[in-house]
Amino acid sequence: MDVREKLAILADAAKYDASCASSGSKATRPGSKLGSTEGMGICHSYTPDGRCVSLLKILLTNYCIYDCQYCVNRISSDTPRARFTVEEVVSLTLEFYRRNYIEGLFLSSGIIQNSNYTMEQLTLVAKTLRQEHQYGGYIHLKTIPNADPELIQEAGLWADRLSVNIELPTENDLHQLAPEKKKVEIVQSMSGIREKIDEFKADRKEGFNAPRFAPAGQSTQMIVGATPTSDQEILQTATELYTGQNLRRVYYSAYSPIPHADARLPAQSPPLVREHRLYQADWLMRFYGFSSEEIVTEADRNLALDIDPKLAWALANRHFFPVDVNRASREELLRVPGMGVRSVDRVLQIRRHRQLRSEDLKKLRVAWKRTRIFVQTADRNPGLLNLESLNLRQQLQPARKQLLLFDAATSATTGEV
Ligand code: SF4
Repeated sequence: MDVREKLAILADAAKYDASCASSGSKATRPGSKLGSTEGMGICHSYTPDGRCVSLLKILLTNYCIYDCQYCVNRISSDTPRARFTVEEVVSLTLEFYRRNYIEGLFLSSGIIQNSNYTMEQLTLVAKTLRQEHQYGGYIHLKTIPNADPELIQEAGLWADRLSVNIELPTENDLHQLAPEKKKVEIVQSMSGIREKIDEFKADRKEGFNAPRFAPAGQSTQMIVGATPTSDQEILQTATELYTGQNLRRVYYSAYSPIPHADARLPAQSPPLVREHRLYQADWLMRFYGFSSEEIVTEADRNLALDIDPKLAWALANRHFFPVDVNRASREELLRVPGMGVRSVDRVLQIRRHRQLRSEDLKKLRVAWKRTRIFVQTADRNPGLLNLESLNLRQQLQPARKQLLLFDAATSATTGEV
């Protein structure tokens, strides 16, 4: 099998790894000669300073000794298999990089032989790129749970970002669908990475010239909709990981049906809008000061699909409003539907000099139709009359339309909800 054939198989197999905001689009338009969008594994991700980089996203191999039921690469699947050598991945990365197709590499793998052997191979790719070719581009390595800490430590020396997939939201879900995987072992691997990152930061603070260790931090991915687990449990797990393991990102990936799937798996993907709502809820937790218990309550354990989670919270907590934009704290302003982090920061700047009126908020491009109902401005705000209205939810519901993938991606990257 030549490298191009391997690339077709191993880039396609990597598309299930949601470590980036967009992935290979549909095939090139018929008849076109320029502007190929072939699914050859080039996708986009964000660096810690907010730059968007294009990555070559591939698996080292899609052979795997595990039998995770939700995965097309599981040992019992009859999918076509391929395996790159370390040299092939290195050369593909360098070739793509030189031609300006990519700015980095995202490398994952099925588990071959055992965790340590697989981790060694992944690390060797990054080490060869850095040491032999002085490659300075971005590298994201997916680490293998259970691999020896020394191997993870070495991986962090060469990679910018490391990640360990939590895979499914709860221990019980893993037990059902991925019996070889244990949540405790996955979290232990994350802890090992976190400790090394903390050590590196502490050494640098002390003025030591410590070698860089995964400077772009660590992330994880959770598949949603493969089991009936609620959004409440999903967001609780995400909170545990953000607070306990200091993760940069949790990626939520809607389960996508695979051929010859186990009867326990659903026949259809969950609606794309569910993944979108989870990303919005995740942003509320990370940037808007919400806790997962506020976003999903015991009474209703799933996020509403018809309205965004911030609006849902506001409607359930009307006593919190109206918020006076000229007096409220930053934390209070961040809870107003339709106001994002940027508009709140602008409000705080402007009001040092003068009182804000409704017109000022409109100019700040808040989602005025929503915002006006929840805020008090210096002029009279007729929207306040609506706050007690029983059918407020219906009034504020967006018109039904097909959600585009890129709507979700934009919201996931800007966090504006
Ligand atoms: S270990 Fe990874 S590649 Fe292997 S079956 Fe499980 S999810 Fe798929």
